This record gives sequence, C-alpha cells and structure tokens, in this order.
Amino acid sequence: MSIAVITTGTELLKGTTLNTNLAFLGRELGSIGLAIRLALTAGDHERDLYAAFSEALDSADTLIVTGGLGPTRDDITLDATARFFGLELAPHPELVQKVTQFWGLRHRGRVPKPVLRQARAPEGAVFLPNPNGSATGYRIETVYGGRTRRIYLLPGPPREFEPMVKAALLPELAATPEQTGHEYTLGFLAAGEPEFQLQVRLEEALSSFPVELAYCATPSGTRVFVSGADREQVHKAAELARTLAGPAPLPFGELALPAPVLAELERRKWHLVTAESCTGGMISAALTAIPGSSRSYLGGAVVYSNELKHRLLGVPREIFNSFGAVSAECATAMVDGAAEQFGAECAVAVTGIAGPASDDTNKPVGLVYIGVRAGEKRIVQEFHFTGDRDSVRERSCGNALLMLYRLLHEDEVDTAAAAGR
Ligand code: AMP
Ligand code: MG
Repeated sequence: MSIAVITTGTELLKGTTLNTNLAFLGRELGSIGLAIRLALTAGDHERDLYAAFSEALDSADTLIVTGGLGPTRDDITLDATARFFGLELAPHPELVQKVTQFWGLRHRGRVPKPVLRQARAPEGAVFLPNPNGSATGYRIETVYGGRTRRIYLLPGPPREFEPMVKAALLPELAATPEQTGHEYTLGFLAAGEPEFQLQVRLEEALSSFPVELAYCATPSGTRVFVSGADREQVHKAAELARTLAGPAPLPFGELALPAPVLAELERRKWHLVTAESCTGGMISAALTAIPGSSRSYLGGAVVYSNELKHRLLGVPREIFNSFGAVSAECATAMVDGAAEQFGAECAVAVTGIAGPASDDTNKPVGLVYIGVRAGEKRIVQEFHFTGDRDSVRERSCGNALLMLYRLLHEDEVDTAAAAGR
C-alpha cells in the first residue's frame, strides 16, 4: 500500500490554520507501521485539487483527503472528487436524514437549504460515520490510470477528523492484507541529550542495521526515531540506540517529559507544585495538558513581580536587594517557598530574563535560574540560554522538567545501586 495525503483549505496555505491534520495522520499511521509517501496541500479551487489528485495518484494507490466537506461554497471536495473521477454525485437518503436532523436541532427545525450539499454522496461510496459534526466521511474505490485506487474523504475540523481516523480509517488500513510499504518506527526521547553528539554516537553503532535514523531536537532532549521494514531489526536497533542515549532515555513511545514525570510522581505518591516567573505558567500548562495530572500536580503560582514572590512564596525582600530576582538565591527561596507554602514533596521554580531587553540589573538576556526539589533533594542551576524570548522561555520550561525528571530518576538509580550492594 502506498499512501498519499491531500490536505485542502486556502487557510493552510496562508498559514492562518496550522496543518495539524497532516501531523496527526503521520503519527497515527506510523503507529500501525504505515508511512505517508507524499503529502500535498491544495487551496479551495477545483483546478488545484485536480492537480493534487493527478500528482498524488502518480505515486499512491491510497489517497486520504481532508477538509472541504462543510456546507459552504468553498467546500468543494465532494464536487471536485466526483468530477475528477467521473462519478455521479447525488443526494443519499441516509445522509439527507442525518443532515436534516443535525441542522434541524440547531435551527429550531428549519434546515437551511445549502447544508443539503452535505447530504450528497459520490456513487458507490461507503460512509464513515462522524459523531462530532454534520459532514460524513467517504471511502471510494475507483479505477484511475488502469489501477484500483482507494480514496478517503474526511472532514477538516480536527475534533471531527481525529476521532474518525482512529475509529474508521486506521482499522481499515491495518486490516488491508497487502503488507508491502509497511514501515515500523520506534521513537523515544533521549532526555537531556544534545542532537549532534547523540547522532554521531548512534550512527556509528547502528550502521550495520537495515534501519533509518531520524532526530528531532526539543528543549528537553532529542527525539530519536528508528524505522525500517523489518520489525525485528527495528526493535534490535532501537534497543541498542536506547542504551547509548545517555543516562535518562525514556521508554519507547514517550516523546515528552510531562507524562513520565507525572507517572513517577504518582508511583511515589508525591505531589508537585510550581512557582514560575519568566515562564509565566508554561510548566503548569505542559503538566495540566496530560489527562490525570491532578493526581500528582497540585498547581502553582505565576509570580512575575518581586512583590508576589514575597507575598505568595515568602521570598525575603533582602534577596531582591542583595542579589536581585534573577539569582540562585531567589530561585532557592522560590522553590523552598513553593514546597512549604503550597505543601508538596516536590517543587519547581524558574526565574530569569527572557528578553529581548535586560532587567534593571544589567544581567544578560537568557540568564535563567531553575530550582527543583524532590523529597529531601534540592538543586538550583544557572543557565545561559541563547535565542529569542520564546526560545528562552521554552528552554526554561524544558530544562525545569528535565531537572525534575533527573532528580526523580537519580533517586531510583541510587536505590538500585544501594540494593545491589
Ligand atoms: P473544512 O472542512 O475545510 O471546512 O475545514 C473546517 C475547519 O477545519 C476550518 O476551521 C479549518 O481551518 C480546519 N481545518 C481544515 N483542514 C485542517 C488541517 N489540515 N489541519 C488543521 N485544521 C484544519
Ligand atoms: Mg475548507
């Protein structure tokens, strides 16, 4: 099976909507060992969609199209698909009923006529149910260029598209008997490892395996992806890569720190609080994005001003006068204050200068102090980050989580070593 994807929508080309559907699809297909061979984005014009169809079908037998199934005039996917493949497009009783019911509920029984566009189906299409919207998904089998092609049409809104991929598309593709073109990928986060050094180490050690390696640097470390056609070889190579990936490689499939940090806290029945200055709640946002985080994360304070650092965390005013708010002393007082005032075994505190201008102490932009407490242990580290404001803030957030992860992990290593003695 060779898969091509066409994401449609002028907003994707203008950059006003981020093409998350493509990224989602790539990840989800990867999880069942399939890879996208080619992806194209077409604006909302039939001629552009035709061009995308021809190009995509040059190299693929399975085509996934997203977007353009709405009720408005710029939603042209159904019309363009039917015309391109020479299929009749007509209202279908099942869809008329669904669309009438859907819009009737929202318009006190009066169904606006244009929405009946969504009740049409290309001849022979199989419907893929969409529990979250009025558009339906379609699977069409048709002959093009002398070969049978399978075409999926799916709606654009991610909250409709994503559940449909999981419930309908993936099971169908996974059940497709033809196995060629399958690619297995195992990925993990090499926490705290810089991309280039890691790459040098891994490429040499894995050169004899029939696999491809890909890297993606993040503020908490480097994501490593090992892929190939032979599942066993991918496993062996990925296991080896993990052993070479520094002291804290995450398990396969874990590509970010918040989830494993929370899992470790939960395992120990510990709780975490945060005190954030220059990151303004980013650490808190990253943690609370994980379902179930409330079992270990209690919450935190955004303490941007010295006054709030003092009032909420009890940071002594002398610290601001003697060392400034961006200092190891302040980070220490913040992390201790958070743990004590908010009542938790673990705490993370960040204070720094994100830029673009320095504060009134003339300390350099990018100077950040991060304090972390985990049980009896506490560390405070000084960082000099380069890059713009966003980058300094993201790296502060990533490193704060990394420090906590390591402190929790280090404990485990200590315990294991002690048990071995
Ligand atoms: P459509 O189905 O094309 O009318 O799209 C409906 C909504 O889904 C719009 O808000 C689009 O911006 C959004 N959307 C469409 N395609 C994508 C995509 N590839 N990634 C993320 N959002 C999308
Ligand atoms: Mg659209």
